[in-house]
Amino acid sequence: MKKVKNFSFQSTSLIKPFDPWGFPLCTCPKKFSFDPYTGCSHCCIYCYAASYIPNFYLPRIKKDLIKRVMKDCQKIPKNSIISVSNSSDPYQPMEKKYQQFRKCLKIFQNFDFKILIITKSDLILRDLDLLKKLKCAVTITITTFKKEILKKLEPKAPDSDKRLKALKILSENKIPVGLRFNPIFPLSKRQ
Ligand code: SF4
Repeated sequence: MKKVKNFSFQSTSLIKPFDPWGFPLCTCPKKFSFDPYTGCSHCCIYCYAASYIPNFYLPRIKKDLIKRVMKDCQKIPKNSIISVSNSSDPYQPMEKKYQQFRKCLKIFQNFDFKILIITKSDLILRDLDLLKKLKCAVTITITTFKKEILKKLEPKAPDSDKRLKALKILSENKIPVGLRFNPIFPLSKRQ
């Protein structure tokens, strides 16, 4: 069992302290990381998580997800930042059917956390009712508006226009939003 300040986490914990670099001079605020799904079906060709998670593009729900999230939430200090997700998308297509992340948002409502959501999907608009009640911020990634390039980079992710529209609607509903314009691919000149 590893101990991080006030929070002890077991191997069964799903919400874990996030400090991948462990650099002592890092100025990022302390935060926790949570992925409701293992893997992601957006199939981005540059996805770093696909290099270390087996069968990454065949996503699955974490075992006993709701029970484990409830347990973790009871141990995490008040006001903590929880980042969702750093190695999958909480609003990938299967979320539409299984609503696992929606159930987690409902749990978060009972605690005093700051939720940072990272997604490429306009499916997030489904949960506007819950997001408005939480302390949360949403960042949406857009890499390109060129459809032919998007199909090569992120073959199964929603169109960039839909993502931009989602950002607009979230912002109009007073949810703090950010645009992640990354990764950046340098243009290669043809000889
Ligand atoms: S959306 Fe994120 S987690 Fe999913 S495949 Fe793309 S880069 Fe990976």
